Amino acid sequence: AGAFSPERARAEVPALHRTVNGHPLVWLDNGATTHKPHQMIEALSTYYSAANSNIHRGAHTMAREATEAYESGRAAVADFLGAASPEEIVFVRGTTEATNLVAHTWGRDHLGPGDDILVPVLEHHSDLVPWQQLAAERGARVVPVPLTPEGTIDQGAYADLLSYRTQLVVLSHASNVLGTIPPVREMTALAHRYDAAVLVDGAQAVAHLPVDVQELDADFYAFSGHKIFGPTGIGALYAKSALLAEMRPWQGGGNMIESVEFGRTAFASAPHRFEAGTGHIAGVIGLHAALDWLSGFGREAVAAYETALTAYAQDALQAVPGLELLGPATRKVGALTFTLAGHTPEEAARWLDDGGIAVRAGHHCAQPALRHYGLDSAVRASLALYNTREDVDRLTESLLRLCEAGGGGSGGGA
Ligand code: PMP
Repeated sequence: AGAFSPERARAEVPALHRTVNGHPLVWLDNGATTHKPHQMIEALSTYYSAANSNIHRGAHTMAREATEAYESGRAAVADFLGAASPEEIVFVRGTTEATNLVAHTWGRDHLGPGDDILVPVLEHHSDLVPWQQLAAERGARVVPVPLTPEGTIDQGAYADLLSYRTQLVVLSHASNVLGTIPPVREMTALAHRYDAAVLVDGAQAVAHLPVDVQELDADFYAFSGHKIFGPTGIGALYAKSALLAEMRPWQGGGNMIESVEFGRTAFASAPHRFEAGTGHIAGVIGLHAALDWLSGFGREAVAAYETALTAYAQDALQAVPGLELLGPATRKVGALTFTLAGHTPEEAARWLDDGGIAVRAGHHCAQPALRHYGLDSAVRASLALYNTREDVDRLTESLLRLCEAGGGGSGGGA
């Protein structure tokens, strides 16, 4: 810890050193997915070349080794999130599967007619759609928590909407659209006054902020490995042990049972009860390596660096005529979402891509949030620890050239 430098992080991530369209890559699409350090890639490669085995079955050496590696990944995730015990960590495919797991098991048992699920208008579709589906099935209501004109969650409205009908509040630790960080701890405490549970979506937070689920007092916390320098197809759901203990399994099959008879099955205890079938063993091992890589830099140091880089980017982008940043300029993770007068977001993204700069244009899986600004699309440049001021300068300079080139914008942002 304490040895953080963006140049060192960058040097350890091979994909950042390629060229795209004849230019050195500038990766500003970290909100969609992050690139991988060689330590993570080597962990996958070593597992498949020397340690591949199924786990929890077969009394042979390699099965035991794979089981130990898998369970040590679980302990690493627990530690990374500040969970009380590894038993509170369920491996899933990613944030989306985590939300769906909670909806299918906990949700089915806790939501009925007359119950409310509070979801801020800012949220990602994966924090809305599973609850719409469940609400339709159970006769519950999904209640939108409005935003202030600026785009923060309206705390007064939130307090007013909470009631003893509220069973669940769903909330992102950091917004994928704006990067903004709501007062999760305060919102959780308020929800608990009404005995409502809180599901925190950490997809956009874990790579950027120190996280302590016990300090937040989150009942559930979800994240995706691929957004934190790990593999795709692996993620984790944290749930308080008391909740997991009472939750029914969702998928049935091998690995999740205690004993099976044709008449009845006794399920394994949590977390294995929620991990039917062969899991993504390599994914867990890769995720473990990615968490170690990030933690090795010191998460406070990374957060401080990214906060400064975000402020630098916010300032730099002011120089681009007609560029309008969405959302408040408060403390946030480095998502810079903007529109550019005279150019559609798709045109701007194409221009930037011609110059080797990867950003995302679109609705960012949060159509209600963009509609709040009267938009259906925007450009998002999203930062991570390996981005530098030079990356931000390349973005700004390319956008300035697009403005000089005028409408239509094609032909290379070099
Ligand atoms: N929640 C948020 C806030 C996200 O940004 C994303 C990814 N864009 C997701 C959920 C979904 O993550 P995944 O696709 O990895 O399941």
